[in-house]
Amino acid sequence: MSKNGAQQAPSFIDLAAQYRRIGDRVERAISAVLEHGQYILGPEVTELERRLAAFCGAGHCIACANGTDALLLVLMAEGIGPGDAVFVPAFTFVATAEVVVLAGATPVFVDVRADSFNLDPESLEAAIGEAKRIGLRPRCVIPVDLYGQPADYQAIGRVAEANDLVVLADAAQSFGASLNGQKVGTLAAYTATSFYPSKPLGGYGDGGAIFTDDDAKAKLLRAIRCHGRHQDGSECGQVGLNSRLDAIQAAILLEKLLVFPEEIVARQASAKRYGEGLGAAVQVPKLMAGATSVWAQYTIVTERRDELAKACREAGVPTAIHYASPLHVLPAYRQFPMAPSGLSQAAWLAGHVISLPMHAYLTEETQDLIIDAVRDAVRSLKGSAAHAGLAGSPPPAE
Ligand SMILES: *Cc1c(COP(=O)(O)O)cnc(C)c1O
Repeated sequence: MSKNGAQQAPSFIDLAAQYRRIGDRVERAISAVLEHGQYILGPEVTELERRLAAFCGAGHCIACANGTDALLLVLMAEGIGPGDAVFVPAFTFVATAEVVVLAGATPVFVDVRADSFNLDPESLEAAIGEAKRIGLRPRCVIPVDLYGQPADYQAIGRVAEANDLVVLADAAQSFGASLNGQKVGTLAAYTATSFYPSKPLGGYGDGGAIFTDDDAKAKLLRAIRCHGRHQDGSECGQVGLNSRLDAIQAAILLEKLLVFPEEIVARQASAKRYGEGLGAAVQVPKLMAGATSVWAQYTIVTERRDELAKACREAGVPTAIHYASPLHVLPAYRQFPMAPSGLSQAAWLAGHVISLPMHAYLTEETQDLIIDAVRDAVRSLKGSAAHAGLAGSPPPAE
């Protein structure tokens, strides 16, 4: 399939390319931490918090050990626990629902929209009614910015306000994106993000952060992440945990943050090229009006997903499936309640999505190779079963 013999095989996410670019600076930054010796919550952590808050325009940034803890810390700071309902999309990474169970509350699954992959505000409204009917207190909603595009915070915010829900944005995949000119980090009362290596702003290990404008809650979150104790040694009065960010990881992220704006532009250019190259062959992702994405994933929708994955593999193009199962059918989660209208879009997407290689260092040559491989696969699959149309559409919303 190679029309260019010298072409390197595409990688799904190329972390090495970035390291070749900034490796020297990263190594110097790590050495500086080794020299000063403040390994936990050192000066680099404070500087990173300051720079991240400035980057998105949030009042406060509280760094922590990972994105999962970032979500959990907020639930703890809000005193969410037994008897409380927390609404989560059924189509997301499992951590979004996991933290609700860890906090002792009940996750209530909400359907997503097939066009944006994100939380459906109508399904949320119905799920709130269901939670009340079964005797739970509706407390919080965790919209997820799946694949890097913000959820519909305007519509979700209206439902949340009418029902007195705290909005906690799961922005693990979307830091750097925006909605109507406002950056992720400022679109909800709380925003949680992750610096897991494969996220758009990834470290060389685990890391996470919370954004909020609430001064008192920011102070409480800082205490909860460090065993419930304020920096002056006084107790915050709540049980905490150990969820601190290492100074070495912060030093690495400070270097990565310098190239992040350019990397976002590169990802957006690659997404545009994918759209142009593949739009006629498969269902390509669409952005909501007013939204930008950081393209944590470039995810297409197709009727014969598994055959397409196989054909791509044979052509040397790696693909991945995020996520092959909606959460409400997983053994650890199937006892939890869901929107009464069902989760048909989430279930449908889990059977039809496939993600293509996406990172900030994807060259046009490599991308052309991927586009050709997908187009060829689609053409031959169409030939093999004339009416099993490849670009399917989801069932109508209920
Ligand atoms: C990665 C991710 C998380 C968890 O982040 P970690 O840093 O791996 O704990 C949570 N939610 C979503 C949607 C994610 O993609």
